[in-house]
Amino acid sequence: MPSYPQYSASSPQQDQSSLSLSFPQPMTSYPLLSSSPFSSNQRSSSSHPLHVHHHHSYSSDSRQQDSQRSVLLPSINSAGSSITGWHDNSRHESPHRHQSSSSDRYRSRPKLRPHQHLLDRKPENCPPQLTDKQKKKWLNAGQKANANHELIANTPPFSASDVDYGKPIHLHRYTSPDILKSSITAISDIHLFMIDTESESVYRQPSIPALIQIQCIENEHKAVVLIIEIQHLPHHSTIEFKFIHQLCDHIFSKHSTIMTWGNLMNELSPFTSTRLFDLSNVTNPINLQTFFTNFWNQRHPHILQCSHQKQEINASSNRDALELICHVTEMNVEDEYVDDKHADYVSCICPKEYRPYKSNSSSNWSLQKALKFTFNCALDKELTQNAWTCGLDKALHHHLTAEKQVIIENMIKYAVNDVLAPTKLYFYILRKSAEAILTVQSVLGPSQALPSPSSSFPIANGNNTINELPLVINDSSQHQLPTFFVLSDSHGKCLNKQLLSQTTTEMTTTNHHVIITAVSGLKWIDNYEPHLSLVHLIHTPTISSFLSRATALVLLIGTNSIRLTKSTDVIQQVEQLITHIRNNHQQLEDEQNIAIIPSFSCAKTTQKFPTTTSLEQNIESYNNLLISLEQTMKFSILDIRIGQHELANDRIHVHHDAHDKIKAGIFDYFNRFISVPPPPEIQSVIAEPHDQQQDHQKSSKRGLRSKESENKRNQARHQRQYHHLLQHQISRAICPSWSMTLIKTVLDSYNVNYYHTPFPLQGQLHLRFKTQAEADHANNILPITAFDENNLRHWTHNESHS
Ligand SMILES: [Zn+2]
Repeated sequence: MPSYPQYSASSPQQDQSSLSLSFPQPMTSYPLLSSSPFSSNQRSSSSHPLHVHHHHSYSSDSRQQDSQRSVLLPSINSAGSSITGWHDNSRHESPHRHQSSSSDRYRSRPKLRPHQHLLDRKPENCPPQLTDKQKKKWLNAGQKANANHELIANTPPFSASDVDYGKPIHLHRYTSPDILKSSITAISDIHLFMIDTESESVYRQPSIPALIQIQCIENEHKAVVLIIEIQHLPHHSTIEFKFIHQLCDHIFSKHSTIMTWGNLMNELSPFTSTRLFDLSNVTNPINLQTFFTNFWNQRHPHILQCSHQKQEINASSNRDALELICHVTEMNVEDEYVDDKHADYVSCICPKEYRPYKSNSSSNWSLQKALKFTFNCALDKELTQNAWTCGLDKALHHHLTAEKQVIIENMIKYAVNDVLAPTKLYFYILRKSAEAILTVQSVLGPSQALPSPSSSFPIANGNNTINELPLVINDSSQHQLPTFFVLSDSHGKCLNKQLLSQTTTEMTTTNHHVIITAVSGLKWIDNYEPHLSLVHLIHTPTISSFLSRATALVLLIGTNSIRLTKSTDVIQQVEQLITHIRNNHQQLEDEQNIAIIPSFSCAKTTQKFPTTTSLEQNIESYNNLLISLEQTMKFSILDIRIGQHELANDRIHVHHDAHDKIKAGIFDYFNRFISVPPPPEIQSVIAEPHDQQQDHQKSSKRGLRSKESENKRNQARHQRQYHHLLQHQISRAICPSWSMTLIKTVLDSYNVNYYHTPFPLQGQLHLRFKTQAEADHANNILPITAFDENNLRHWTHNESHS
C-alpha cells in the first residue's frame, strides 16, 4: 500500500514549502511511490490538496518557458536510456519493471479531469499562508481553469471538421518494422509538416520530453499523424530505431516546410538529445502564430479613434499608381515590419473582442483563442499538464482498465488535436489570403466586364472567384494544346494588360494556352505573410489547379526575396519550392518543364542591403547559384536579363521600354518548347556540361535572339564570371548535417570569403573564388577536416552557447 511520505495531505507545512518552490514550475501531481503510472492505489486526484499547485498554461509564452526549462533531460541519461527502460525488449514485461528509476518517483498518473480541483478557487478560500505573489498565481491558475471550463461549456468543441485523417501512428519500441517501413513510404512525397510536442512536468525538475506529434500533410484533406513516444523509443542499435530515425531525417530536412504554433526551436530543442533529428537541417521553419497574428491584424485594422489616438495618420495616402502595384514589397521589409500600422501596441483602445492583444509581440495569440475567434470552436486545454510519458499506445501496456483506457483515449485525442487545430487554421489563413489576392479587384465596372462564363475554363476547385479572360477560345483543340503557367511577382504584370487589375489571366492562341498569375510582392518564401509566400501558395486550390494543368511552368520571381535575404538562403528556398512542386505535379519532373528567370537588377535598397552595390552583388551571387542549382535539380534557366539602366524611376520595376523584352523572352520559350519535341533532344542540348561554347549556344537558344545586344553582353559577362569562378575552386569533404549558416560561420572564422559558396553536394563543399590567390589562401588555411563530424559537433556546440 503506497503512502505519500513527502507530501502527505496532513502536512500543511510541506504544502507551503512545495508551493513556494513549485511556481512557476508546474507540478503535475504528487510523487508516486508506486512505479506504475496506473497504480491501482490512486486516490481521487481531484481531492488531493496538493493539486493546488497546478499551473496551467494557455498562452504560448508559458509554453515556451516550459520547454526552455526542460533542456536538461532528466529522463535520458548519457547512455541514452530512458525511464521506461527501452533496453528491456520483452513486450510482456509488466509495466512495473522500472520500479527503481528515481525520476519515476516524481511522475504523475494520467488524469481525465486535471482541472477539477482548480475550479473552486476564490479569493475567500485562498490558503492564508501564501505570499501575495503566490496568491496571485494560485488564483490565476483557477481563473484560467475556469475560463477553459466556461469556453468548453458554451462553445462547440473543435473538430478537424469533415476530414478523417485516420488513427495516429504511434512510434515506439514495439512498433513493428513493417509499420515503420510503410510509414516511411507513406510520407516520402510529403514535405509539409505541422509539429507539436508534449512534455511532462516534474516537481522541482526540468520537464520530461514525452511526445512529438507530427502531422504529415499531403493536402488539406489528406494527412497522416505520427506520435513519437519519446520515452519509449527502441535502443539506438536496433533496426526499429534506424527506421524511426529515417522517418525523422525525411521530416527534418531542408526540403521540408515545418510549421509550429510558436517557435520551432523552442518547441523542439528539449527533444534534440533523442538523436532522432538534426535541427540545423531545418532551413525555413514557419511560425504559424506569427502568420496568424499578421493575418488577424491586417483584417482588423485599428478602429478610427484608436488610430487617431496613435496619431499615426500620415499623409502617405496618395501614392502613385506604380507604387500601388507593389506597395506590398515595401511593407514587407522584415526589419521594418514592426512599424506596420496594423501591428498591436500597448495603448490600443480597440474593443477586446476585436483586437484581444495589445502588446506588440507576435507570440501573444494562444492557439485556443485563435480557434475561438476564427471558427468559434473550443480547443480543450484541460489536459495540457498530464502524464504524457505514460505510453499512449495500447501496445505499451500489459493491461488497461476501462477507465484508464478512456483517459488515454482522451489524451491521444488532445495530442492529435494540437496539430490538427493549427493545420486547420493554416489552410484557412491560406485560403483567405489567397482569395484576397487571387480575386479580381473590382476595378472593372459591370459594363466593362468582358464576356467569359461559357468560354472560360473550369477550375478544379470551384471555391475561387478568378475571373478568366480568355482571348481566343478554341475549346476543341484546347486539350491538345500545351498549357504554360507563368507564376510571377509584379514584374509579370507587363505580360498582359489585364494583370494590372487582377492577379490571373488566361489566354489561348493557336499554339498554346497560357495562364499568368502575377502577385505583387511575391517571394519564394515569406515567413510573415502566407499569401506572398510561393511555397505556401502552391498548396492553395487555385494555384495547385494551375500547376496541375501546366505542361510547363515559368517562374519570374526573385526580386522581393533577394532584396531582403542573402542569396545562399534564397537559393535553398528555390530548391525547397521545386521539390514541393515536383512532388505534387509529376508532369513537371523534366528539365524543360520548369524554367526560372534569373533575378532582374534592382536598385531599390533595403536595410539588409543598404547600397546598390551590396544589393547588386547579392543578386549576382543568387543568379550564379541559380546556375549551379539548375545543374543539380535539372530545371531550365530562361535567361532574360534586365540591367540597372532598364529600371523604372522607382528603381525596382522594369521600365516600360523593356517590357517587350520580357514578353518576347517568355513567349520565345513557349515557341521553342512547342517546336522542339520533348525529352531526348532538349535534354541533350540542355544537360550538356557547362563549357563556354555550350553556354553561348545555350543562351542564344534560350534567351532572346533579338536585337538586344546589351542583354547578350550581360549574359556573356555573367557566364564568364561563373566560369571564372569555377577555375578558382577548392573542395573540402563535408559530412551530412552542416547548415549553410554554420558553414559560413566556419569560413568566417578562417577569414575565407564564402560569397560564392554553393551548398554542399554529395559530401563535397566547393569553395569558389574570384582569384587564384584567394583560392590558394583558402586552400592553405582551411584544414582538410574542417567540415568533419568532430568539427560539426564543436561548432554546433559553440553556436548553441553563443
Ligand atoms: Zn487599436
